[in-house]
Amino acid sequence: MNGVCAMTSYFERSLKVVPGGVHSPVRSFKGLHTSPLFIERAEGGCLYDTDGKSYIDFCMSFGPLILGHKDPEVEESLRLALGKGWTYGASERYSLELAEYIVERIPFVQQIRFVNSGTEAVMTALRLARGYTGRDKVIKFSGCYHGHCDSMLIKAGSGVASLAEASSLGVPLGVTQDTYVLELGDTRRLTQLFDEQGTKIAAVIIEPLPANNGLLIQDPQFLRELVNHTKRFGALLIFDEVISGFRTGFGGMSSALGINPDLVTYGKIIGGGLPVGAVGGKHEIMQMLAPVGDVYQAGTLSANPLAMVAGLATLKKLNVDFYARLDKYSNAIVELFRRALLPRIVSEIISYRSLFWIKSTNFYELFQRTLQQGIYLAPSACEVGFVSGAHCCDKVMESLEQKLRW
Ligand SMILES: *Cc1c(COP(=O)(O)O)cnc(C)c1O
Repeated sequence: MNGVCAMTSYFERSLKVVPGGVHSPVRSFKGLHTSPLFIERAEGGCLYDTDGKSYIDFCMSFGPLILGHKDPEVEESLRLALGKGWTYGASERYSLELAEYIVERIPFVQQIRFVNSGTEAVMTALRLARGYTGRDKVIKFSGCYHGHCDSMLIKAGSGVASLAEASSLGVPLGVTQDTYVLELGDTRRLTQLFDEQGTKIAAVIIEPLPANNGLLIQDPQFLRELVNHTKRFGALLIFDEVISGFRTGFGGMSSALGINPDLVTYGKIIGGGLPVGAVGGKHEIMQMLAPVGDVYQAGTLSANPLAMVAGLATLKKLNVDFYARLDKYSNAIVELFRRALLPRIVSEIISYRSLFWIKSTNFYELFQRTLQQGIYLAPSACEVGFVSGAHCCDKVMESLEQKLRW
């Protein structure tokens, strides 16, 4: 069977048994007139599909793989842990070590609880904020993504500014009524909303570096305003650092900005490519969680030992030298893309540390051409690109330069 045929048939088989053929919508290549690749294996900075074709991977599983695929040290740690078992439903040392490793290095994370995904982390942070403050309302911002829990699938309404609408079917009206949606950077509306409703607001949640609808770098002054307003009214500030945590430096955007949010959510890198999310923050707030406090949260596979091991092995490699090298190579990679792509099908490339966003005038064309050349970008115009430690070598740079010569 030739390759094209094999690929089509995997996707066709998948379409029969899985909605849209995929287990997360952004994997579907929707609107790109191509069947999604089926991946056979991956190594370093490269993906290999079931046809044996290789791609330099800038999707990197949408962010978790800051060291690249199959990092040898993560692999070795996983092998050792695997030999002992893979879930106990009881306390073990790996989650203790990962918790200590983070709490010792990120000052405002005084306690942490591990869950299985970024969505779960956000869900828990919101419940915790509501439980702690005894209030219901939450403020979020257009352009930020916080996973798929009901109260975050809300967009600004078409009518009165502060009224929100669900962005998915199946979200109850009551939930939409407890969420306000504001525009990023709109301090005027923010002040107004706090002046009117401040004592009812449990939390403001934001991606301090919004990276799910392109890369929307925020004015630090705007983020400081969030601190002022939440402090003034006793609401909590939640930084959703599921993408930016351990990415823009070990302490994420919180450390970069010198802002201590009341609660932070992590995901992606924290599990090194295995499913982990976490909520962390002030001791007093974290103590509201069960079994100490009355805010309930639980998980059969939470802090799964293998996932903890992958996370710990990953985080242990993220030192100052690692980030310096990653930044240096990221800049060089973005420069290569700029030279090859501007200005015809790409209007601008925005980057921050090892994240970049190619703003294209025709994403379909950009995606097809790069894919043909053996470069895998995330299959959506809204998604950012991720550089990993495995991209930081001359071999990858030379290969990329070659592929971009068209
Ligand atoms: C990816 C992401 C989430 C959701 O995490 P999942 O693990 O996909 O549930 C939440 N918030 C932000 C900022 C994210 O980037």
